[in-house]
Amino acid sequence: EPVLPSPQSILDDIHARFQLGYYYHSSDQIALTSLTQVFVKEFAQGLEKYGEDMAMVPTYVTGVPDGSETGTFLSLDLGGTNLRVCQVTLLGNKSSTSSLNDIHTLSPSPSNRGGEFELRQQKYKVSETLKGGEASVLFDYLADSVDAFLTMHPPESPSPEMHLSASETEIGHGSAAIPLGLTFSFPVSQTSLDSGEILTWTKGFSAKNAIGKDVVRLLQDAFDRKHIHVKCVALVNDTVGALLSRAYTSGGCILGAIFGTGTNGAYVEKISRIPKLQEQRQAQGKGASRGKQEEEGEYMVVNTEWGAFNNSRTHLPTTPYDATLDRTSINPRFQAFEKFISGMYLGELTRIVLVSLIDAFPYSSSNAVLFKGKVTPTLNTQWGLDTSVLSEIEVAWAEGVGGRAEVVLEHDNPVPNWESLTALQASHISSDANTQDKRLLTRLERVRQVVVSKLGYEDGDVGLRDAAILRWASHLIARRAALLSGVAVAAVLVQTGRAGYIADSHSHINNEYPKDEKIGVGVDGSLIQFYPHFETHMRSSLRTVVGREVEERVVIGLAKDGSGVGAALCALQALKQG
Ligand code: ADP
Repeated sequence: EPVLPSPQSILDDIHARFQLGYYYHSSDQIALTSLTQVFVKEFAQGLEKYGEDMAMVPTYVTGVPDGSETGTFLSLDLGGTNLRVCQVTLLGNKSSTSSLNDIHTLSPSPSNRGGEFELRQQKYKVSETLKGGEASVLFDYLADSVDAFLTMHPPESPSPEMHLSASETEIGHGSAAIPLGLTFSFPVSQTSLDSGEILTWTKGFSAKNAIGKDVVRLLQDAFDRKHIHVKCVALVNDTVGALLSRAYTSGGCILGAIFGTGTNGAYVEKISRIPKLQEQRQAQGKGASRGKQEEEGEYMVVNTEWGAFNNSRTHLPTTPYDATLDRTSINPRFQAFEKFISGMYLGELTRIVLVSLIDAFPYSSSNAVLFKGKVTPTLNTQWGLDTSVLSEIEVAWAEGVGGRAEVVLEHDNPVPNWESLTALQASHISSDANTQDKRLLTRLERVRQVVVSKLGYEDGDVGLRDAAILRWASHLIARRAALLSGVAVAAVLVQTGRAGYIADSHSHINNEYPKDEKIGVGVDGSLIQFYPHFETHMRSSLRTVVGREVEERVVIGLAKDGSGVGAALCALQALKQG
């Protein structure tokens, strides 16, 4: 008879591998700190030149709003299933009388309440045919959508900022054009505030004759072909939108970060620390005008494209499950960091772990570790398990006690104890559980119901022990994602001189920033918005790397309507720069 490993040892092994210290033979603190150090090193390499890892794209956005800005702008957002057209009216902070104020503030100041805005929007579907057809047809559709929006919502009382003077537009015909900011969430190498070449399509887009072309030109040509009096004046990434809109509504912000389908971040960097920007300008033959640009501002927003952190190296704590996910993805060895973190991947990673448990003792339902050894089409299909199901499992677990989500601390996820769960399951069936067990049984039963309905099992194939294993696996994988997200934020704080490493007494904080400065971070994406305790774990990681004192000054807030408001703010900056 072969000697089988115990189910407990299998669970123990997975648990150990998802602890960050495992691959460093050390504590979480050492692992998180080392990863942050590598992150900062790769920031510097990316700022030097474009390579295989983080692109560190200079965005030509040279400052951050403080909430006093006013004006009405159009914005267009292309980045996923829907296309969004918005009309954004920046109202400023009502107490302020200035308009087109200088864009300079880097951190929220207590005296500033932040700006208010009004937004009208309309969504339009982007069909599969459009995504894969000719680029000119796609961009005609974008232009038509803006036209349809303007017909539906004619601008009532155009503010002075809303219209460019006729001489500033290429459309002419004696009438003025409406300025528009374009949020384009695909990789672009930006060459100015209003131009950038499409590097590659992602997220299911593959329109022909677009790669290498200037996306603003493609859109403007479509407006011009159709005699639509709109001028695209700014090109914005969604992370930059999040940064600007959070700065506007809260009075200051240094980092915009997305934790949704993918993950990425944009932060405010000193121009003197972006060597490749100087080279880029010289290559464009703008060496002479460089002085002028620099006078205009000391800072520039950099789009990190941090999803590509560690593409070409192997510092990330890669389990065999991560390797399977990567190998079977359409882009092996690319977006390495994103694959540990974002909504597109966490469900799939969990699915791979669960399938490995189901397959632990093949075709032996009596020895099965999970679900009596059975799969469902959901579990058997690549990408079959959506990250929102993990969220639902966590919510069901938390709601099991009195309907209120309780704070789940990082240590509150022990490895499921095989024997006691098996006993608990038996006591449930014979209904002789004690009071404390009954509490646990209620929670597990709620989780069990989510598992049955979302994974497509027969009721009798899912036990309470299975429910406990699912809740543990979801938590294990999401916790690691949130801790690694904290590394990205910590790296920005260290890079900008706002924090040092708590584990390294030699690292020092730049004293140009006040010690009591609040540090604004704007976030967006379903994962950070809806996954229970994502921010709690992210903060615990930050605290581990940079210390409690700095972590407590970090103000994390939702970037409301980030792409619309961000694009409007960018359009405003473009008009100011002329
Ligand atoms: P996008 O990033 O495309 O703009 P979202 O921010 O809504 O859009 O992110 C979508 C991703 O978030 C999907 O991968 C989905 O699996 C995941 N997701 C959706 N709802 C939830 C939820 N409640 N909890 C966690 N993840 C979710």
